[in-house]
This record gives sequence, structure tokens and C-alpha cells, in this order.
Amino acid sequence: MSNPTIEQLRARVSGAVITPGDDGYDEARRVYNAMIDRRPAVIVRCTDAADVTAAVDFARENGLALAVRGGGHSVPGFGTVDGGVVADLSGMRAVRVDPEKRTARAEGGATWGAFNEATGAFGLATTGGIISTTGVAGLTLGGGIGYLARGFGLSCDNLVSAEIVTANGRTVTASEDEHADLFWAIRGGGGNFGVATALEFRLHPVKDIYGGPMFFDLKDAGAVLRFYREFIADAPEQFGGFPAFQIAPPLPFIPEDRHGETFLAFVACWAGPLDEGERALKPLHDVAPVVAEHVGPMPYSALNGAFDALVPAGLQHYWKANFVRELTDDAIAAHLGHGPKDPTVNSTVHIYPINGACHRVAADATAVAYRDANFAAVIAGMWPDPAQNDANIKWVRDYYAATAPLSEEGGYVNFMAGDDQDRIKANYRSNYPRLVDVKRRYDPDNLFRVNQNIKP
Ligand SMILES: Cc1cc2nc3c(=O)[nH]c(=O)nc-3n(C[C@H](O)[C@H](O)[C@H](O)COP(=O)(O)OP(=O)(O)OC[C@H]3O[C@@H](n4cnc5c(N)ncnc54)[C@H](O)[C@@H]3O)c2cc1C
Repeated sequence: MSNPTIEQLRARVSGAVITPGDDGYDEARRVYNAMIDRRPAVIVRCTDAADVTAAVDFARENGLALAVRGGGHSVPGFGTVDGGVVADLSGMRAVRVDPEKRTARAEGGATWGAFNEATGAFGLATTGGIISTTGVAGLTLGGGIGYLARGFGLSCDNLVSAEIVTANGRTVTASEDEHADLFWAIRGGGGNFGVATALEFRLHPVKDIYGGPMFFDLKDAGAVLRFYREFIADAPEQFGGFPAFQIAPPLPFIPEDRHGETFLAFVACWAGPLDEGERALKPLHDVAPVVAEHVGPMPYSALNGAFDALVPAGLQHYWKANFVRELTDDAIAAHLGHGPKDPTVNSTVHIYPINGACHRVAADATAVAYRDANFAAVIAGMWPDPAQNDANIKWVRDYYAATAPLSEEGGYVNFMAGDDQDRIKANYRSNYPRLVDVKRRYDPDNLFRVNQNIKP
């Protein structure tokens, strides 16, 4: 690549354009998963849609791969690329709420923390992720699972429109009325179709919730999981939350002599009337003695930031995932065989419920095909020390080998590892051919290929 071309790019964009050797290059190329160590040719710190267009044009005209970075949380490191262009939207994080229309417009690099703070000020929310530092765009474009999913559907089900810079450098609005095929594909199809510079969401009245984490002894884990399976099938849709295998962190509400011990945790989120919260969570308390808990009324945004400290940027990550229709006794036995071996306090296994409103969207209404799955399970290996990579990856793979045969073939794209590219068709089931068709129309040369790639 010649200097003049980089100079032209610098002249065109308002944000910083960072190349190898520039001050701050190492910081700028870093992503959330510290296992990812890639050296892009250029990183464009986008400040607006015009900067994004410049980065897209530059990559296309130079025949370079393009990575799009929103919140930077991609476990396979799709927010960066060796020798290519990074369009880094992390500076574009504004969120604007229209309380009258009950909508919010988030820029393409906004995080859920910023989103929930902004909407929470008006007593409004939509389905988002459970960690505040995750990107709104990356999470939503892949589907979007969180506490409110049973009540309001996936994040992508709440998308009203998106402003997309497509591979040819044009900006289009995708909605039910405009570029409806693109709008269909971006609700689950990930970053395959363009860069979302802004996303507009439908909001719902949610301010304070009643919930938080509860810890059960491992000897009761089977009973809690079996209870959860039955209870969640027809629990009120204001009830969200999930069971998790979790090592107890050194927190004041957990008895000190139990710190470091592995538990079956349950994180609950009752988004109905606050005075009904205690009653809503009572069935869980009745299953087995609760060893420790931090449950009560709190702002929805507080629950969404409650676990941030367990997953700081800079850990090593390796994840595996499946959708689950029936959490059978055999599947529970497989979880009981591997969950208690959780090797670090950062690692965890979550079994998210995705029934309720998620099921009321037809399997072909958006790219997300698994509308009959009741759970999305993720084995999230996260640990600080690279010297422990082999042992931690082995834990994830062994766990996955035991549970995958008892699960659906596909899994949630946003929980997939870098070595899961051969599962992409299975993730989209019968929606895959239509995704290929839309890809051919909007990105025939596969400029957007640094992702769980749908090949044109
Ligand atoms: C700690 C942690 C917690 C998580 N919790 C949840 C959860 O509760 N629920 C859930 O559903 N998922 C969760 N995830 C998974 C998460 O949805 C994915 O990692 C997602 O890709 C993150 O998006 P990002 O913008 O932060 O990531 P990035 O690494 O910036 O981007 C990931 C991918 O999204 C695409 N992308 C990002 N921004 C844009 C954009 N503006 N336009 C076009 N494409 C874009 C890119 O193509 C890239 O391939 C979690 C992940 C982590 C690491």
C-alpha cells in the first residue's frame, strides 16, 4: 500500500488513522479477547458515518480485508484483522432516546451500558446483553439474548431500522419498508451485509427490576436445573434469568469460607411489578437452600453491569455453544459432569431461556431460524493466564463434546468460536439460502468476510 493512499484516507476522515509504527498502534489493535494478536495495515477511528464510508471505500479499492469493530467483544476477534483495514466505531457511542415514540437510536459503536443508562432515565429498556461493555451493534446483528428476551423477544426483534453502509460505499436505511430484504438479513445475519452506523430500537416500560444472583450448593444443582426446565416453560414472561456454573468470587454477601468454591448460581430478573418480585422468585427459593444471594430491587441497568468485574478486557477467551430444545435428564447429567469442573472464576456456563416472545416470531421472519429452541447454552471459557490456555480450552471442548450430542446442531452465532465456521449453515437452517441470496446482492465480493461468514 503506498503512502499517498493512506494520506488520502487521512485527508478524508475526521478521526485518527493509525498504521504500524504510529504512536498508539498497539493499543489501537488490541481487542477484548487477549488471545487475539493481529496486526492490521490500518485502523480507522471513525467519528461518523462519513468516516465509516471512507474506511469501506479504502478497503474495497485496495482489495484489503475489512474488520468492523463495535464493542470489540467478539470472542473469535472479528473486530480486527491481519494486514487489513479496521473500521473502529468505538468512538461512535451516542444513544438518543425518544420517550414519546418509545424508541432509541444508538450509534454503531455504542455499548449496552450507555444504552441502558440512556433509556433507563426514561423508565424504558429493550432486550440487551448481560454485560455492560458488550457492543449494541454486534450483539443485535447476531440476534441478541438477555434478561428481557422472554418478554420482548431478542434484541434484533426490537430493531425498527438501521442505517447501513454497504460494500459499495452507499448508505441505506434498512427497515420493514426500505430494503426489507437487507433488514431481514441483518436481524441475525451478523456483520455480513454492511456496517451499521446507527440502529433504532423499540423500547418498553422497564425501570427497576427485582433480581440478582443466588448461589446453590453443587449437591442441589441437579434439582435446580430440573426445576428450571419445568418452571421456565410457562413462567410469567416478566421472569428472565438463567442458571450458571460459577466459582464464588470474593464478594461480601458470600460467606468468606465459601469464596473460591464452585456453585450452581441462578441470576434472576423479574421485570414485572416490583412488589410481586419476592413472590415471583419464591419457587426458586423453595427448590433448595440458598447459600448466598444478592437479590432485591435495583435499576435494570445495575443488573446489566453487575458482573462486569468478572470479565474485564484482556482475558483469554474460548467459547462453544448450542441451541437446546429439550433440556433432557441426560443433558442435565452432562452439565453436572462438567460444570463443577469450571476452572476459573471468570469462566462460566449459562443456559439462557429463549422461549416466550422469542417463539412468537416466525422462523423465517428474521435470519434467526431457531425459534423453536427453548434454551441457548454457552460454555464460556475465560481466564487470565495464557500459560493456562491448553487446560482451559480442553475444559470447554470436553464439556462441549458431552453436551452437543444432546443439543440442536446449530448454536447462537454470537457465542460461536473461530473454529465454528463449518457450523454456519446449521446455525441458520432453512434461512441459509436466502441469506446467501441477500449477500450476493449487497456484498457480492465478500468485502465483509471477517465474521461468521455467509459466502456469496
Ligand atoms: C463478556 C461477554 C458477554 C456477552 N454477553 C452476551 C449476552 O448477554 N447476550 C448476547 O446475545 N451476546 C453476548 N455476548 C456475545 C456478543 O453478542 C458478541 O461477542 C458480539 O459479537 C459482540 O459485539 P461487539 O460489537 O461488542 O463486538 P465486535 O468484536 O466489535 O464485533 C463483533 C462482530 O460484530 C460485527 N459488528 C460489530 N459492530 C458492527 C457494526 N456497527 N456494523 C456491522 N457489524 C458490526 C462485526 O462484523 C464483527 O464481526 C457476550 C460476549 C462477551 C465477550
